[in-house]
Amino acid sequence: MFTFSNKVCELSEKALITAKNEFDAIDAITEYNQQKMLKAFIDNGVSENIFAESTGYGYGDRGREIIDRVFAQAVGAEDAIVRHNFTCGTHTLTVALFGILRPGDTMLCVSGRPYDTILPVIGITKNDKNMGSLADYGVKYEEIDLENDELNYAAIEERISKGNVKMVYIQRSRGYKLRHSLSVAEIKKVIDITKKHSDAVVMVDNCYGEWTENIEPTDVGADIIAGSLIKNPGGGIAKTGGYIAGKKECIELCSYRLTTPGLGKEVGATLGQSRELFMGIFNGPHVVGEALKTAAFTSALFTLMGFDPTPAVGETRHDIIQAVRLREEKNLIAFCQGLQKGAPVDSFVTPEPWEMPGYDSKVIMSAGAFTLGSSIELSADAPLREPYAVWLQGGLNFHSAKVAVMFAAEEVLKVNSTED
Ligand SMILES: *Cc1c(COP(=O)(O)O)cnc(C)c1O
Repeated sequence: MFTFSNKVCELSEKALITAKNEFDAIDAITEYNQQKMLKAFIDNGVSENIFAESTGYGYGDRGREIIDRVFAQAVGAEDAIVRHNFTCGTHTLTVALFGILRPGDTMLCVSGRPYDTILPVIGITKNDKNMGSLADYGVKYEEIDLENDELNYAAIEERISKGNVKMVYIQRSRGYKLRHSLSVAEIKKVIDITKKHSDAVVMVDNCYGEWTENIEPTDVGADIIAGSLIKNPGGGIAKTGGYIAGKKECIELCSYRLTTPGLGKEVGATLGQSRELFMGIFNGPHVVGEALKTAAFTSALFTLMGFDPTPAVGETRHDIIQAVRLREEKNLIAFCQGLQKGAPVDSFVTPEPWEMPGYDSKVIMSAGAFTLGSSIELSADAPLREPYAVWLQGGLNFHSAKVAVMFAAEEVLKVNSTED
């Protein structure tokens, strides 16, 4: 079948042994979350006839109503909005932010600078003027940076107790930074501090974090969480979409921004998307387990190859992202080109570095996905600059993703052996 060098085969075998304990821990989380999801399907009486499409206004669409209840139960929230109409994660987060915040309010981000695509939504930089950002509507923004890679609880408490904070915003995933991803326990500390001193809404950007732990931020009191359905919670099956979940009154406000004040969740044709959304959220916990195993295997393999992955072997994970510091440009290129060779779609393509808008260096990406841009499917990105790290995420099933990671290792070994 696939032929790899003896070196890669040997190292992969060793990596599987190194990762054994981590795989066992991942299996336990996956089993727990998958059963939680199954129970939510059973408790809410999901049946085949609710998958039927609605058109036009979509009044009384049972599938749309029930998927909200199923998802809310699974994440420990009072209510949810799960829709194909959300175009991406950024859009979903934007609907939630505009749903809650009003002119004069202050949004306080406590996990440092947010994910790139959220910056124009907040209106942080000068060139973001007049696009209808939160800043254009008079919403104020403040930020508390991480300190030594940790949430700065003292600064957070001091700021919140001064008053006048409407929303405390936390990004769970590391995104494309080298900081650690936040655990739900760390997020809970922020929630407790916030609720002790104020009635501010706590919102979590939950992208990439779903089903990586036994609990979600909503299980421990987050007022609102949001994420993308072409990442973890769509299970690799949802073709597009997003979700917002949380307290009933918050979800109601968000629903007025999704459609209109007054109409809220009462409208929205499902256009035949319901079956795939149900299948997708059902498979989410399992698929996240596969992605976590892919990340753990990659971390173990590249450690054995002498590189420096983060999370390191044995470190607990709170998102599906695996970064590997590969030290040199040629290794980043070799990694992405190798990974692509093991993709089920577009395996014959050779990724090349290119100038990407918004980046100050060339970027190389590997993606061979059934759904365009899906990052619960195996993919990798690497900006060709310090810290010379590649960010890998996803993997619909470990057995297949493992092959792609072995191809990546093979290419990295190759460019190093021929040039030394
Ligand atoms: C992916 C992501 C987003 C934005 O989602 P898109 O679907 O790319 O618009 C926001 N925040 C974090 C942490 C993400 O990982």
